Amino acid sequence: MKKCLILFMALMVFACQGAFAAPFDDDGLLRLVNRDEKITKKYVPADLVKPDVPTNKKSQQESIFMRAEAARALEEMFAAAKAEKGYNLLAVSGYRAFGLQQVMFNNKVKAVGSKEKAWRKVAPAGASEHQLGLAQDVICDTYRYLNNGFADTDEGKWLYANCHRFGFIVRYLKEWESITGYAAEPWHFRYLGVNHAAAVHWLNIPYETYAHQAMELPEFVQVKGNAYLLYGVMDNALNGDGCLFEEICNAACDTEAQQMAVIEEMTVYFLPEGISLSQALSGEVH
Ligand SMILES: [Zn+2]
Repeated sequence: MKKCLILFMALMVFACQGAFAAPFDDDGLLRLVNRDEKITKKYVPADLVKPDVPTNKKSQQESIFMRAEAARALEEMFAAAKAEKGYNLLAVSGYRAFGLQQVMFNNKVKAVGSKEKAWRKVAPAGASEHQLGLAQDVICDTYRYLNNGFADTDEGKWLYANCHRFGFIVRYLKEWESITGYAAEPWHFRYLGVNHAAAVHWLNIPYETYAHQAMELPEFVQVKGNAYLLYGVMDNALNGDGCLFEEICNAACDTEAQQMAVIEEMTVYFLPEGISLSQALSGEVH
């Protein structure tokens, strides 16, 4: 009886830490947020930190907080843009509380005259992934505007082609408007972690499409799947016959060793020429 109690308490401690949140839960890196899948008023990420990156205005330093893992990845992306290309990226807006999003939405309604028009431009409270602490709006010193012109800058093009290397995706593109429900935002980057971000980038699909399918994968694949495996099985489900997707969903994986064996075996199907399994599993993403 005592043992059970200790085990129960230990489990509660783990659960409360949030480190083991399921990927699509509120604290998970894959949480999908949009007008149909809102986040509650109460949700505040537990591990918000300020990324050490420059902002457009000094006062914006207080508006760029992100969850710790995403903040580190943003720093790496900004540093790589500088080191590889000499670009000076600027952060503009990261975590936003529910209440702040409400104020922004109401201001937009006043500015454009109707809720319907405001909806296309600004997320209503609870429908913005900025509340997750996993999104950041980014511009650069040569183009300091949050508008579509950013997509045509060298910096915007570099981000579009490279952000997945650091775990980010460009969340809203013009051709996806009917699915995402939002107008294009070439400045808005969402953190998913390197493996899922690369898979989404290679598939070139809106996150809604990806997430609804990836939710069906077993949790160990969502958590431990490498970019090649995720790309391969998702491509098979979305564009192919679905057999391989089904195979991984039905694989017998009671132990961690079995899970890793399934991941390794199935990754081999999807490796590009010249990439070995060990390279793929070491997280080398191209
Ligand atoms: Zn944004």
